[in-house]
Amino acid sequence: MINFENTEIAFAYRSNSELSKAKLLFKSVASPFVVKLGSTMLKLATFLHIPVRWAVKPTIFKHFVGGESLKECTPVVEILSRYNVKSILDYSVEGKSSPTEMERAYNEIMSSVSFAASNPNVVFSVFKPTGLIDVNVLTLVSEGKSLNQAQQQQYNLFLSRVDNLCAAAAQSGKPILIDAEDSWYQKALDEIIEGMMAKYNTNQAVVFNTLQMYRTDRFDYLKAAHKRALDKGYVLGMKYVRGAYMEKERERAARMGYVSPICETKAATDKNFNDAIKYSVSNIDTITTFCGTHNQDSVNYLVCLMESNGIAPNDSRIYFSQLYGMSDNLSFNLAAAGYNVAKYVPYGPVKHVMPYLIRRAEENTSVKGQTGRELALIKTEIRRRRRSR
Ligand SMILES: Cc1cc2nc3c(=O)[nH]c(=O)nc-3n(C[C@H](O)[C@H](O)[C@H](O)COP(=O)(O)OP(=O)(O)OC[C@H]3O[C@@H](n4cnc5c(N)ncnc54)[C@H](O)[C@@H]3O)c2cc1C
Repeated sequence: MINFENTEIAFAYRSNSELSKAKLLFKSVASPFVVKLGSTMLKLATFLHIPVRWAVKPTIFKHFVGGESLKECTPVVEILSRYNVKSILDYSVEGKSSPTEMERAYNEIMSSVSFAASNPNVVFSVFKPTGLIDVNVLTLVSEGKSLNQAQQQQYNLFLSRVDNLCAAAAQSGKPILIDAEDSWYQKALDEIIEGMMAKYNTNQAVVFNTLQMYRTDRFDYLKAAHKRALDKGYVLGMKYVRGAYMEKERERAARMGYVSPICETKAATDKNFNDAIKYSVSNIDTITTFCGTHNQDSVNYLVCLMESNGIAPNDSRIYFSQLYGMSDNLSFNLAAAGYNVAKYVPYGPVKHVMPYLIRRAEENTSVKGQTGRELALIKTEIRRRRRSR
C-alpha cells in the first residue's frame, strides 16, 4: 500500500516560502465568502480592463498555472521531472469564439504538440474541442439537425483541424487527450474521436477520448465503443474523470424538462468510475487507461487492480494524472513508487486563464473536503520541516 500521507515526498519540489504561500492560498479559498468576493472582483476587473496581473501572477496563478507561454512552463516541467512526475501542457484560454481566436487556439495547440514532441518530460498533448468550434454547431450535429452553409464550413474546418492535431500527435509519438465538457454536444465528438482512433490507434493508443463517469450512460458507451474498436481492430484510448459540470448539467435538464444525464448520487458516480476502471484494466491489451482524479480511494483502487492483474506499475498502458497545484500527495507518492504520473499543467496569458483560475478557486471551496485535505497536508509538511531543522 502506498503511503499518501508522506508529505516529505509530496512537497519535496516546493521551497519553504512556496509552501507558506500555498498555505495562505488554501486558507483563503476555504472561505466561500473570500472566494465569492475574490472571483467577483476578478470578473469585474477583467470586464473593466483593470490590470490585476501584479496581484494574480505571483499568487494563485503561480500555484495553479505553469506560465504564460510554453517556454515559461519549461522550469515547472523540469522541476516535476526530477521527481519522475511528467507534464501535460494544457492551453487553458477559454470562452473565445471568433474565427481569429479559434485559429489562434488551433495554432497554439499545434505548437504544444510540437513542444511535447521535443521534450521527453511532456508525455501527452491535450485540447478542449470547444476552443476550436462554436458549441452551437456541435450541438446541432449531435441532435442530428442540418447545418447551414456557414455552419457546415465551420464544421469542416473543425474536422480537418482535429485530424491535423491527431496526425501531428501520431507522428510525434506522444498521445493526445481530448477533454470532455457538456453532454449535449458530446455525441458528435464521440463519433469524430472514434474516427480518429480508427485512423491513428492501430498499434497503440494515440488519440484519447474523455469519459465523464458522472454520466449514467458512460459505462454502456465504454463497452459499446470497445466492441467497435475490437471489430475494427484499433486500440481504445480512454481518459476517465468524474466530470466537472454537474450543476450546469442538472440545471439545464430541469429547465428544458428532460431526465438529467447525471448520476443521482455521488456513490453512483463512484461506482460508475470504478466499474469503468475495472473494465479498462481487464482489457488492457485493447484499452489504454488514463485516470484523472484527485480521489485517493480511486487511485488506491486502480493500484490494487494493477497488482491483482499482475500489471507492472510502469506499464505504459496505464497513467495517473492530477492537476498542477493539487493533490501532490497522490502524484508524487505514486511517482516515487514507480507508477506513471503526469500533471495537467495549464498555461496561457494571465488575463485569459482567469476563468480557469476562478473555477479552481470555486472548485476548491465546493469540492467536499478537498481544501481541508490540501491544507492539512501542507501544514503537516511545514511542521515536519520545522522539527527537522
Ligand atoms: C487530470 C484531470 C483531467 C480532467 N479533465 C476533465 C475533463 O476533460 N472534463 C471534465 O468534465 N472534468 C475533468 N476533470 C475534472 C474532474 O471531472 C473532476 O471534476 C475533479 O477531478 C473532481 O473529481 P475527483 O474524481 O477528483 O474527486 P471526488 O472529489 O471524489 O469527486 C467529485 C466529483 O464527483 C461527482 N459528484 C459529486 N457529487 C455528486 C453527486 N451528488 N451526484 C453525482 N455525482 C457527484 C462530480 O463529478 C464531482 O466533480 C479532470 C480532472 C483531472 C484531475
